[in-house]
Amino acid sequence: MKEYSSLNLIREDLKNGLTSCSELVNHYLEKIESTKHLNALIETYADEAIAKAQLIDRKLTQGNAGRLAGMVVTIKDVICHKDHKLSAASSILEGFEAQFNGTAIQKLLDEDAIIIGRNNCDEFAMGSSNENSAFGKVLNAADTTRVPGGSSGGSAVAVQAGMCLVSLGSDTGGSVRQPAAFCGIVGMKPTYSRISRHGLIAYASSFDCIGIFAKNISDVAITLEVISGKDEYDSTVSTTDVPNYSHEIGTHPKKRKIAYIKETLNAQGLNNDIKQNFNTLISKLKSDGHTVEAVDFPLLDYMLPTYYILTTAEASSNLSRFDGVRYGYRSKNTTSLEAMYKNTRSEGLGVEVKRRIMLGTFVLSASYYDAYYNKAQKVRRLIRDATKELLAAYDFILMPTTPTTAFKIGEHDADPLAMYLADLYTVQASLAGLPAISVPSGHDNLGLPVGIQVIADDFEEVKLLSFSNYLMTLG
Ligand code: GLN
Repeated sequence: MKEYSSLNLIREDLKNGLTSCSELVNHYLEKIESTKHLNALIETYADEAIAKAQLIDRKLTQGNAGRLAGMVVTIKDVICHKDHKLSAASSILEGFEAQFNGTAIQKLLDEDAIIIGRNNCDEFAMGSSNENSAFGKVLNAADTTRVPGGSSGGSAVAVQAGMCLVSLGSDTGGSVRQPAAFCGIVGMKPTYSRISRHGLIAYASSFDCIGIFAKNISDVAITLEVISGKDEYDSTVSTTDVPNYSHEIGTHPKKRKIAYIKETLNAQGLNNDIKQNFNTLISKLKSDGHTVEAVDFPLLDYMLPTYYILTTAEASSNLSRFDGVRYGYRSKNTTSLEAMYKNTRSEGLGVEVKRRIMLGTFVLSASYYDAYYNKAQKVRRLIRDATKELLAAYDFILMPTTPTTAFKIGEHDADPLAMYLADLYTVQASLAGLPAISVPSGHDNLGLPVGIQVIADDFEEVKLLSFSNYLMTLG
C-alpha cells in the first residue's frame, strides 16, 4: 500500500474507493511490527483497530462517517482511554486501567479516528530524551544511536516512522515541540486552556497542554479543531470559540513582522549548524518581503530556573496521589501505613521523578516558599508580560526549537542539568501559556533534523498555522 502523507489524500482515496480503513489499519500494523525496535509503542490495539476500521468503512459507505474517518492515531501514555491501560510509563501505575475517556480522546473517537496504540514516553512526562521510561528507551528513527527527544518521544517516533498518521503528546515545557524537532516532524502546543486537560495525567497543571504531532500542518489543524473547546470537566479550559482551523489556514500569508531574540543566538551551547540554519532562514524571510528584527530579551537566563522551580513544585503536589492506596502498584513491604507509602513510592517511581518531587517539596517548604516558589511566580509573570509586549509589536517570535540536534543515548546520564538545557528555547511559550509550534527546517551536517519554533499570541493558532504552512515550503 502507498504511504499517505496527509488525511486529505487518504480521504480522497477513500471517497474514490482506492483504499479503505481496514487496509490503512493493516498497513500501519505492519509498519508497527517492522519498527518494533524503536520502542515507540507500549501497547498496540490490533484487534480493536481492525474491528473499528470495519465499522468506519461501513459508515463511509453509508455516508455518515466522522470528520476524522481514515485517521489512524497513537496516544501518549498519559491520556485516559477508557478500559485501556494507562501508566505514564511508570511502574507505580502497574495494572491501572482508565475508567473514562479524556475529553480529547472522546472527541477523536466521536469523529471516527482509530486509536491503534499507546506511546512510550518519559515517566510522568518528565524528561527531554525519552530515556526515563519503565518500558525502556525510545530510539530516533533518523539515527537509532540517538534519542528522539522527550518527553513525548514515542509519539514523535510513531509519526516519524509512519506507524500512524497523527499522534497526541503532552507539552508542559516543550515535550511536543522538542521531540518534533529531533525527529523532523511538526509538533504543536496550542494556547494553554485551548484543549481540555480532563483525563490528562497532571505533571504541572498550570503548564500542561495536550499537543499534536503530524507530518504536515493540515493534519495538525484538523486534529486541533476536533479536540479543542469548552468542557464541563475542566474548569480552566477556554470558552473562546474554536475556529475552523482546517479551512481558515492558508499557504500565502501576508507580509509579517517577526522578532527574534538576540540572546537566543548568543546562548552558550547553541549548535553552529542550527545557528547558521536560522540565519539562512532569516535571510529568506527578508527576501520574501517579511520584516525580521532582532530584539533584546534579557529575561532569557531566568526562564529555565523559573520553569524548573514551578513545575517541580506543582509536580510534588500532583504526584502525591500515587501512594499505593488508590492506584496501581503497592509495595509488598508494608509493616505500617507509613512504610507502605514510603516503600510504594520508593520502589514505584523512577530516579528523575523522585528528584523532581524532592526539589518541588523543597521549594514549597515553609522556610523556602518565599525565596523560591513565590519569587518564581513573580518572574513567570514578568516573562509573560515581556513576551506579550513583544507580541503586541510583532506577529511572531521565531527561534530555533532546540540548541542542539538529537543527542546520543546516554550522553546526559551523568548530568541532569545538561539535559534541562535541551528545554532552553521551549519553556518561554510554556511559562507564558502561548501557542507555539516546531516546524522541520533542514538538517545539520550529520544529516539530523533541525526544527524551527514559532510563537504567536494567545489564541492566534490560525495565524500561527498559516505561517507554519508557508515556512514548510521554505524547506
Ligand atoms: N523536558 C521538560 C521537562 O522535563 C518538558 C517536559 C514536558 O513538556 N512534559 O520538564
